[in-house]
Amino acid sequence: MDSHIGEACGVFGVYAPGQPVANLVYLGLYALQHRGQESAGIAASDGQTITVVKDMGLVTQVFDERRLAPLDGHLAIGHVRYSTTGSSNWGNAQPVYRSVGDAGFALGHNGNLTNTERLASDLGMLPGFAAPVSDADSTSDSDLVAELIAREYRATLRSDGRDLENALERVLPSLEGAFSFVMMDEAHLVGVRDRHGFRPLVLGRLDDGWVVASETAALDIIGAHFVREVEPGEMVVVDANGVRSHRFAEATPKLCLFEFVYFARPDSELYGQRVHLARQRMGEELARQAPVAADMVMPVPESGVPAAQGFARASGIPYGDGLVKNRYVGRTFIQPTQRERGLGVRMKLNPLPENIKGKRLVVVDDSIVRGTTTRQVVAMLREAGAAEVHFRVSSPPYRWPCFFGMDTGRRSELLAADLSVGEIRDYINADSLAYLELERLTAATGAAPSAFCTACLSGEYPVEVPRSDGKHVLEVVDLTGPLSQL
Ligand code: SF4
Repeated sequence: MDSHIGEACGVFGVYAPGQPVANLVYLGLYALQHRGQESAGIAASDGQTITVVKDMGLVTQVFDERRLAPLDGHLAIGHVRYSTTGSSNWGNAQPVYRSVGDAGFALGHNGNLTNTERLASDLGMLPGFAAPVSDADSTSDSDLVAELIAREYRATLRSDGRDLENALERVLPSLEGAFSFVMMDEAHLVGVRDRHGFRPLVLGRLDDGWVVASETAALDIIGAHFVREVEPGEMVVVDANGVRSHRFAEATPKLCLFEFVYFARPDSELYGQRVHLARQRMGEELARQAPVAADMVMPVPESGVPAAQGFARASGIPYGDGLVKNRYVGRTFIQPTQRERGLGVRMKLNPLPENIKGKRLVVVDDSIVRGTTTRQVVAMLREAGAAEVHFRVSSPPYRWPCFFGMDTGRRSELLAADLSVGEIRDYINADSLAYLELERLTAATGAAPSAFCTACLSGEYPVEVPRSDGKHVLEVVDLTGPLSQL
């Protein structure tokens, strides 16, 4: 991935009486840190009271023993969040908490709703939520959902101890877009996945409890066993009686293809496939599709590593390292402007001239979004003496904005939006450039092509999307200014 786009968030929940549930959620969030670095939060219940601790920063910055101590109980949920520029504040940290009478519930959301306008207009009548919901505030959809649930919660109190569940059964069918939720009240852990399953969500088993997590790798870290994916259109509820399942919508799976390409950890499994192996197969496909005579295959670390390994294996060209990543520098997307992002690349990657000099290089990355990093990488390699630089990308051109939980900004910020592959090759100053074809990419995942959202690559959105939701502008906007500003 070149100049980074915002990842989806990460969610994690544990129901395990007698276990230090907040510590387990802490570890789960630690394993999901790649999905969001802006804020972290945990909510825990002791059966009577829900306690929430959340703050800006990485999991290790937000939590220490002192801040975990009050999170006592038998169930807990957690959330790590990535946010767009301009909506970075404490109020957007999750879990979101709402009190309803003597009770309450907490919610963590991964994804992005696409019908917020209609939901917000419904809620405009509610006291305490009269202010218009700003689409620039990326958590507004999570707040909306919390308000909708609170309203139904009040309206449907049945005293059967399942008020959250009952409220959700009424609210969930009205939500459109991407949502993987973890939720809790004092006694129940709930996991929900939208009918398309845009974002992953899995169910895991502890010896004495249950876990809901964004990715399987987060189960591993606490010794939980993978049970199954939470199905698209399914709500799972865990309480003292075990696990029960409700279906609130027919499943039409459209998992985000970029979970396979970039987002998910390589050691996670999606659709029963190990992500690392799928990424290697993408590199193999790329070598078959776009071969080139070269002396060394190298990745853009670390995102391009598995695909570069696959490319080398399929092509027979030796694999080597041409760039070293500084592991101790923050990721460049935290810089708010393109210019600062550009400077960040130099802080992050440094060439190994001895491995590069005089060589014809195949340089592999998983995607090019804005192009800033890619262009600088090629320049660095040329300065270090590369004879030729052939760039290979293990996904198709990223041309359309995402409305389902990934921050790609305006369409005009996407390098490939209005440029041909040849123009992009000229912009990044590579000797050749090839992108993996969509059919080959989906084949490499081992899953059916119809099981994926490919909208950012194909322009085919699986659900109706607003023309603009404030962050993601669909209409074509001409590139304003020279390419050097991209
Ligand atoms: S538009 Fe792209 S990034 Fe967004 S959910 Fe679909 S495949 Fe994933």
